Amino acid sequence: MTPMPPIPPEGRPLPDRGWSGLEDYTRESFLTLRRLCLDRHGIVTEMSEGWRSGTRQGYLYSLGRWAPNSDSSVSRPLGSKVTNAKPGQSLHQSRRAFDVYCARPTPNTPVLPYDPALLALIGSVGVELGLEWGGNWKTFVDMPHFSVPVGWSKKA
Ligand SMILES: [Zn+2]
Repeated sequence: MTPMPPIPPEGRPLPDRGWSGLEDYTRESFLTLRRLCLDRHGIVTEMSEGWRSGTRQGYLYSLGRWAPNSDSSVSRPLGSKVTNAKPGQSLHQSRRAFDVYCARPTPNTPVLPYDPALLALIGSVGVELGLEWGGNWKTFVDMPHFSVPVGWSKKA
């Protein structure tokens, strides 16, 4: 059995919601995706996480494996896994991935941040732009996730 890495001493490393840790072309791909989703579908797309430290990747990998996730229950004491990528395997760490959610266009508009139908629309725009969309993954579907090929440049 592989020994389990410890939970980071700093507890729960928070996501980096700023864009400064991303490659320039990753930032540009997000802004292009955001503009097209707004123009075509009226969806306000925001970034929940961009660059990710190895410490945070290790923390996320631990959830649902040896650390309880927030959806844990009596029948599933560890809850859901959130990633299959160990530290060093995530393109978030390589500054080439971001996760999105849908924001409310106005304060009174009811929008679920992770509405699958809206995420599917965003995903189709992303694929058209040449991004890899986690909603197309077979083993671990991750609808909010996009990754960007090295040197991606804007086509739209
Ligand atoms: Zn992601």
